[in-house]
Amino acid sequence: MNKPLLEIINLSKSYVQAGERLEILKNIDFTLNSGEMVALVAPSGVGKSTFLHILGLLDHFDSGEIVILGEKISSLNEDRAAQIRLKSYGFVYQAHHLLPEFTALENVMMPLLIAGVNKTQAKEKGMEALALFNLDSRAMHKPSQLSGGEQQRVAILRAIVHRPSILLADEPTGNLDVQTADLVFDELKNLVQKLGISALIATHSLELAEKMDRIVTFDKGSLKFLKK
Ligand code: ADP
Ligand code: MG
Repeated sequence: MNKPLLEIINLSKSYVQAGERLEILKNIDFTLNSGEMVALVAPSGVGKSTFLHILGLLDHFDSGEIVILGEKISSLNEDRAAQIRLKSYGFVYQAHHLLPEFTALENVMMPLLIAGVNKTQAKEKGMEALALFNLDSRAMHKPSQLSGGEQQRVAILRAIVHRPSILLADEPTGNLDVQTADLVFDELKNLVQKLGISALIATHSLELAEKMDRIVTFDKGSLKFLKK
């Protein structure tokens, strides 16, 4: 506990739109510690996705520093950044983004195959992952043969199958009906806890956020704590 996995130091990010500079994130300081789950709650358009993309090494920022597992972003080359994205991170988005032509099992195996794990081992680990959500009986189903909740569960398993240190989830239950969202959110929480993964989860639901260890929000570009 309390070992920083991710340190964000004085981070700022702006976009230029129609000649005008929009300051989205201003001088953000934030630390994600080992084993904790943090909710990022804010209405649409304030910069949740921008923040997660930056932390996930998927977007650039204007100034500041990010330290991931002790490594400064400013000192990483492209190869090392790609390696960190692949090995240390798991990503879940609002849409499941499963590959429609592949089965649930193949979708879950994908990050392992990309990381160079052999097919037999990847299959074994993929089945183990599916079993975590009792989805082993759905292994051979294509995404179109699964319910919305099941699709999102498979997307969550694909994000953790390689046991990342950090899970970044961007409104992971935002496309589900309220009841299913509640269920899947609880399952996600239990899974992350069980596996000891640290998570930063963006949501616009304060009710869902209340289930996390800490809650942060953005107020005019500054990060504020709602629950410490
Ligand atoms: P959230 O995820 O909280 O809804 P976003 O991070 O998607 O917010 O967007 C924050 C703000 O940045 C919005 O006003 C959006 O219009 C703007 N924005 C996002 N991406 C870009 C971009 N590529 N170019 C210009 N403006 C952008
Ligand atoms: Mg967003």
